[in-house]
Amino acid sequence: MVGTKSQPTRLRKLTMKRKELLDQAHKLADRFCITDGKKFRLKDIDPGDTAWLKEEHKPQAEEALQEGIAALTGLQEMLYAQDRWSVLLIFQAMDAAGKDGAIKHVMSGVNPQGCQVFSFKAPTSEELDHDYLWRCMRCLPERGRIGIFNRSYYEETLVVRVHPEYLANQKLPPQVITKHIWKDRFEDISNFEKYLTRNGVIVRKFFLHVSKKEQLKRFLSRLDEPEKNWKFSSADATERELWGDYMDAYEDTIRNTATKDSPWYVVPADNKWFTRTVVAAAVIDALSSLDLHFPKVDAAKRKELAEVRDTLLGTK
Ligand code: ATP
Ligand code: MG
Repeated sequence: MVGTKSQPTRLRKLTMKRKELLDQAHKLADRFCITDGKKFRLKDIDPGDTAWLKEEHKPQAEEALQEGIAALTGLQEMLYAQDRWSVLLIFQAMDAAGKDGAIKHVMSGVNPQGCQVFSFKAPTSEELDHDYLWRCMRCLPERGRIGIFNRSYYEETLVVRVHPEYLANQKLPPQVITKHIWKDRFEDISNFEKYLTRNGVIVRKFFLHVSKKEQLKRFLSRLDEPEKNWKFSSADATERELWGDYMDAYEDTIRNTATKDSPWYVVPADNKWFTRTVVAAAVIDALSSLDLHFPKVDAAKRKELAEVRDTLLGTK
């Protein structure tokens, strides 16, 4: 009995609070959502941006994040029960931008049975024996599930573009390595994502945009604090030297693959609390756009359930 006068005040308040939360999530996510790549410039996004939330709002933002996570839990339950849509969340970033932390926090309330996380590292020899989408296609989320890619096929227009030697290592026939190869890859990726969308897989892509200065700060704390040493690899420092090339590759990738159905969120990543809030908002916004509901029980099924109930209670 939603929206009637007989609705108890508490429930009405909860419904309003939820609507407010969804509206806020939409407003925040929308600010960082790129649906038309043509106009996108990376320099327009400040990694230190916190929108209208100031440092002193941090406790409220953290509280809102907890509420958001609770809302996400409910949405995921319906996604799972409905078993029609699936959601693919792709995370890309420079090292130490906070991919792992964002995934861990935002998905903390989600039922592990309905969520799958895959990390894509440098390809193995088996993976190099296939086209580059192969390893990712095998990990696509089943219907009703949320799939998370920690790095993805986007590495093919990022790290592989920055390191031409990786392309040379891919065992491609020389005839297909033309000067159009990056344009071809953008086109193939966009077509693949269109195909997924047309099959009920909702694709959302996140670039956690950290500044070079903040990355240095995080690297130093990984070096200085023994319990963080394991997170640091000396390769991270080498990749940092190629910062400009990576930023160009990210910009070009986003410009060529951001679409209305499959947008990029360019999330400021110098403040972890803010990054997590925006990612949660974008995931909530995506799920709440799906008109999710628990499967409807028809009259015949209701009758069957009533009969089973009577049998269980011995009243039949
Ligand atoms: P962490 O936060 O733990 O550092 P990570 O995602 O950086 O997580 P690593 O094992 O450090 O994980 O790095 C994986 C590396 O694999 C990255 O440098 C990434 O660029 C690289 N990689 C991923 N896909 C490809 C690919 N297709 N070709 C070459 N390198 C790739
Ligand atoms: Mg790394």
